[in-house]
Amino acid sequence: ATGRTPLMAGNWKMNLDHLQATHLVQKLDWTLRDARHDHDQVEVVVLPPFTDLRSVQTLVQGDKLRLAYGGQDLSQHDEGAYTGEISGAFLAKLGCTYVVVGHSERREHHQESDELVAAKVRAALRHGLTPILCVGEPLEVRQAGQHVEHVVTQLRAAIEGLEGEQVSRVVVAYEPVWAIGTGEVATPDDAQEVCAAIRRTVAGPVGDEVAAGLRVLYGGSVKPGNVAEIMSREDVDGALVGGAALSVDDFAAIVRYQH
Ligand code: PEP
Repeated sequence: ATGRTPLMAGNWKMNLDHLQATHLVQKLDWTLRDARHDHDQVEVVVLPPFTDLRSVQTLVQGDKLRLAYGGQDLSQHDEGAYTGEISGAFLAKLGCTYVVVGHSERREHHQESDELVAAKVRAALRHGLTPILCVGEPLEVRQAGQHVEHVVTQLRAAIEGLEGEQVSRVVVAYEPVWAIGTGEVATPDDAQEVCAAIRRTVAGPVGDEVAAGLRVLYGGSVKPGNVAEIMSREDVDGALVGGAALSVDDFAAIVRYQH
């Protein structure tokens, strides 16, 4: 991951209310502070439910914590008659700097298409948020050996028509669906294969320089015990962490993977 700042992002999914969120963020900050020199070079992001964000903002901004935070989704629209939706403008106003787009749970349970995901990437960029764009294949696609093609197709659809400057503000997360929340982790070489393909795909439309700077994460059952080897691969620049992000000790250990 030469020259690219590693990024560890914790996707809490629909876990932890705002009181529990405050507790976790405080404890995470204390734990990481103890090892400040260890994680100075790693960017740490938490992705709580929407209802926690105001509390997280108060804590992070009030106590000047070295954590970034963001939403798990956003609307493709900026405002209006879209009951239940959340605008990227609202997230930005709350100090969010990141937002997950196209998580496989949204693609699956909320029928998010590649077109919708592309519109959400644009909405995030419009509001100055860094989209963490999730791509990844289901098990049958991997078994058929079509995983690279599948991921490249999802990625192309999401970034089509964007300019280099816009793509340079995107983070891509390779999350094989069969590895999410299953305890089944891709091998470091599997992660590398797809993360490298992601970088090559981006180079096509926007050039080598943007591609070289693009941060590509791996997600899917990342734990303290497997993160270092995954991170040792050239094109893996960080992790999107679900289950293990709910434990301060595990997430802090993941952030400190180099030690
Ligand atoms: C995720 O939700 O993005 C994820 C990778 O989950 P887990 O780490 O639990 O597999």
